[in-house]
Amino acid sequence: MSTVSLFWHRRDLRLEDNLGLAAARNAGHPVVGFFCFDRHILNRLPALDRRVGFIHHHVERLQASYHSDGGTLLVAHGHPLESLQSAVDQLRQQGSDVAHIHANRDYAPYPVKRDAEIGQWCHAQGITFHLHDDHVVMPPEAVLKDDGTPYTVFTPYSRKWHKVRDAMAHDPLSTVDSPGAGSWAKVTGAALPSLTDMGFDAESGNPEGWKAFDFPLQDATIKRYEERRDIPSQTGTTRMSLHLRFGTVSIRALAQRGMAHSEKWLTELIWREFYQAILHHFPHSASDAFRAKYDRIPWRQDEDGFAAWCAGQTGYPLVDAGMRELNTTGFMHNRVRMVVASFLCKHLLVDWRWGERYFAEKLLDYELASNVGGWQWASGSGCDAAPYFRVFNPESQMKKFDPKGVYVKKWVPEWGTADYAAPIVEHKMARQRAIDTYKAALADA
Ligand SMILES: Cc1cc2nc3c(=O)[nH]c(=O)nc-3n(C[C@H](O)[C@H](O)[C@H](O)COP(=O)(O)OP(=O)(O)OC[C@H]3O[C@@H](n4cnc5c(N)ncnc54)[C@H](O)[C@@H]3O)c2cc1C
Repeated sequence: MSTVSLFWHRRDLRLEDNLGLAAARNAGHPVVGFFCFDRHILNRLPALDRRVGFIHHHVERLQASYHSDGGTLLVAHGHPLESLQSAVDQLRQQGSDVAHIHANRDYAPYPVKRDAEIGQWCHAQGITFHLHDDHVVMPPEAVLKDDGTPYTVFTPYSRKWHKVRDAMAHDPLSTVDSPGAGSWAKVTGAALPSLTDMGFDAESGNPEGWKAFDFPLQDATIKRYEERRDIPSQTGTTRMSLHLRFGTVSIRALAQRGMAHSEKWLTELIWREFYQAILHHFPHSASDAFRAKYDRIPWRQDEDGFAAWCAGQTGYPLVDAGMRELNTTGFMHNRVRMVVASFLCKHLLVDWRWGERYFAEKLLDYELASNVGGWQWASGSGCDAAPYFRVFNPESQMKKFDPKGVYVKKWVPEWGTADYAAPIVEHKMARQRAIDTYKAALADA
């Protein structure tokens, strides 16, 4: 029997600068790769889901890279623990004993629970289970207040992030090499399941579906980020969110480019880490208001208003353009995300959770921590949120960020004609209603 290490790819679909994979290789045993299409997650998705197509496309590429390097990426479709057990059994039957399983940590509630179960099972099997911090530069425990408690406000968090980095003997932005030929064990495994084998429409895998994210990141885009980031008609942001979600790029490589070219852009990458840390330290915030008293707001059960918002038929051009961009491409510009989210929670007084769920279904870059963070920011209920009396005026936002209506015309061609919907709610009334409702609900009992 030879001894091997298993490296379990989850949301890190790359060989380059993968800290967990590098650690597995450095542990001294040949490495076998493993990926599981997790039924627990996939079973809840619709048959046409381009995120699954994106993952499938990258797993296929990863498998080809393993193969051309003389290694193997085993791919399963099932529940993670059972799939892992069966991979370990298969390897044993081929004369390879798995002594170590390595993976990169995911900080959200479901993966934390899953990994705790896997850890217990490994322990019972005499296999060591190692988790590494790869998805963020600073894991949630690395950036804490001096008294050891988590930050709940971004600016001091960000300051401390830099301070911790400066104090580290080993720069956490350093990257590691891809494992070369000679790092791998060659074994046999089942063929990659197709999208249709897994119950998905083959169209989910059409790369046209994620073209909003599919272009190389140029230094020039990062350098001009601050100047162009708020203009939704331009591709002035980097569209890295989908790649960061599934780890087809390395956060360290991106943060280095931020350091070199744009402090502002680096700050956005740190916002991502802040929200990961918030969700990790305060897992209740995935479904409840971070600030409990915001759960006292009597949200309106406005099904019609919500349907108009989802369809981009509110009669507010910037809101409608954003929702139609989302429905068509799976992406929405950050400035417009803020405007549509504020409109739903404040103008319509609809529970932020409805909007959060809708974004979760539609966004290709959907990420629980950032989505909940963004929605709670907009509704005022989050840790470092917009004050409740700040109600974005969608008309002034358009005047400021899309003055010529270039973005709006692209997504709402009937804007300015008799065919365009009348506003479903009057701004002045809605603004006052939101302020009064929030004020009454938040008043100390
Ligand atoms: C209501 C709402 C919901 C959101 N939902 C998500 C989500 O599900 N997934 C997601 O990745 N982002 C979410 N965001 C944050 C932000 O809108 C997107 O990260 C950004 O639009 C992605 O485009 P980009 O890659 O071109 O970003 P860039 O502006 O180029 O920024 C670079 C990277 O920094 C990170 N980032 C930027 N802004 C934020 C932010 N405000 N919060 C956290 N990370 C940020 C992202 O990883 C992004 O890819 C949400 C924001 C709001 C207001």
